[in-house]
Amino acid sequence: MEIQKLTKEIRDNFISKQKKRKVDDLATSWFQDDLLYSGSGKSIFLILPTPGCAWALGESGGCSMCSYITDCTLEPIESEKIVKLFKREITTSMEKIRLENDDSTPSPIAIKIFASGSFLNPMEVSKDARDEILDILANMDEIKEIIVESRPEYIKSEVLNEIFSIIGDKLFEVSIGLESENDSIREEKINKGFNKKDFELAISKINKAKNNYSIKSKAYVLVKPILTTEKEAIEDAINTAKYCESIGVDRISFCPATIHKGTLIERLWRKGAYTPPWIWTTVEIINEVRKNIAIPSFMDTSGFGSRRGPYNCKKCNKDLKHMIIQSNLNQSLIEEIDCKCKNQWKSEVKFSDLNKSKTPIKHLPLI
Ligand code: SF4
Ligand SMILES: [Zn+2]
Repeated sequence: MEIQKLTKEIRDNFISKQKKRKVDDLATSWFQDDLLYSGSGKSIFLILPTPGCAWALGESGGCSMCSYITDCTLEPIESEKIVKLFKREITTSMEKIRLENDDSTPSPIAIKIFASGSFLNPMEVSKDARDEILDILANMDEIKEIIVESRPEYIKSEVLNEIFSIIGDKLFEVSIGLESENDSIREEKINKGFNKKDFELAISKINKAKNNYSIKSKAYVLVKPILTTEKEAIEDAINTAKYCESIGVDRISFCPATIHKGTLIERLWRKGAYTPPWIWTTVEIINEVRKNIAIPSFMDTSGFGSRRGPYNCKKCNKDLKHMIIQSNLNQSLIEEIDCKCKNQWKSEVKFSDLNKSKTPIKHLPLI
């Protein structure tokens, strides 16, 4: 497939030039207010150093928009080292939260562990490291929810049983990058490497495990993959949210595309053949989804207003970003605001189909 050849070539080239970073510098964490399953609280975001996503490092070249491997060692790491860095980060974040909390009643805390790939793949995070990390969290009363990410192929009933034998009745969420409900978009524009059936199988395993455990699922939805118009991006994100709800996913997190270094999306962006979505597009999606879909939905705002991220104009970028962050916390609609740039967005959405050639794309527009 052309997309795999290209992503592989771009990835290999980028990796060959990538400066080696010290493993100690790869681990990091921060926290912020968030909406937990149990209501308002705080989330700790913790980046765990790993060798890297097996899909990105394999022959396929990985997903067209992702460069999380820049946060990875690209070589094996000892389990003890992963656990040591995890301990360092969780201790730092917890100290900061306690300091901020002062004497007030502590908020419930969720921890989101980012392994820059699949936490449930033992080749990325060894079972020893996984068990020890979960054991640490099981013994922390303030931590109420544990959230990890995984591709569907690593979600296995035995693995879920192992996890809950350690964490007991704590809530555990597995987030899966579905990106689009459309198999051809996922295969041809994202190079995700799994189909809807694979995703549905993973969700059914999670839903079956709900009989015994406090387990939840979340789907990541990519807003505006490559070779997609603004209008198609809106439609695809809304359709994907509807699909997720229909098969029993618990939450949705929209990820508007930003331009990661060393990716196919970056190559197209540099050639003028791709732009990230408008922030208006993300507002339209979130309002439509919150009006029509009952499960909670979140819009990731990282990169908003930056050169490589979703962009409106200097006048409204910041206000809208702030409104979206607020609306994620209370799941409200985003109120109508106006700005000069809105008409430009509206006409782009309206005429995007007219501007599009009816000839099917045979080659990616890179020359
Ligand atoms: S999006 Fe996920 S599966 Fe795809 S390359 Fe990145 S880490 Fe791997
Ligand atoms: Zn504007």
